Amino acid sequence: MDPTTGATALPAEAQGAEPSARIRARLVAAGKRFHANDNIAEFIRDGELAALEDEVAARMQALLETLVIDTDSDHNTRGTARRVARMFLHETFKGRYHAMPAVTEFPNAERLNELMIVGPITVRSACSHHLVPILGRLWIGVLPSEGSNLIGLSKYSRIADWIMSRPQIQEEAVMQLADLLEARLAPDGLAIVLDADHFCMQWRGVKDESHMVNSIMRGAFLKSAELRKEFLQLVRS
Ligand SMILES: [Zn+2]
Repeated sequence: MDPTTGATALPAEAQGAEPSARIRARLVAAGKRFHANDNIAEFIRDGELAALEDEVAARMQALLETLVIDTDSDHNTRGTARRVARMFLHETFKGRYHAMPAVTEFPNAERLNELMIVGPITVRSACSHHLVPILGRLWIGVLPSEGSNLIGLSKYSRIADWIMSRPQIQEEAVMQLADLLEARLAPDGLAIVLDADHFCMQWRGVKDESHMVNSIMRGAFLKSAELRKEFLQLVRS
């Protein structure tokens, strides 16, 4: 640790290196996982995201050249490298590079203990395997207890968007969302259903309609078949 900046010292080979190498060195030094669907915002220093965008744009430009596209005379692709870099870092994959949106929990003062369902929330993601879109609809069921925290309804979509705006695998995405909501809300029960279309199956490969539904049930939803049935019936209607 540098006592003046609080920054962890970087290994010599990462000093003065490209931003991605510096960020990676910090992650490795901290023993943190940095898979495609992990958030790494706390390892990116102020101003470094702009430098990372420059680096991604340069690499994207190199990729376009490797694909033998004449970006000098083709007016359509002239700014593509920069547009894609911005899109990855600040839009489609922002859930990796930006911190979670601010969400204020408040205590369950009214002692609500009825099943509450939020949805359908439209979710947009990309598959980790091909980086092509996954578009889906998400439902979240919460059974609060007296000790639970609550959050505003709109916050569920903001949290879901943050989790989904990463290269994802559908099963892992719902797991990450469930873990986060459980930690923040401490509900008696939590249920999530995600129904999504995978464009990697429609646009390429078998070119078949590919639809995937998965669900997660925790706490009271695991214990009570009645509660599960009530949730799934409300989702279907
Ligand atoms: Zn795919």
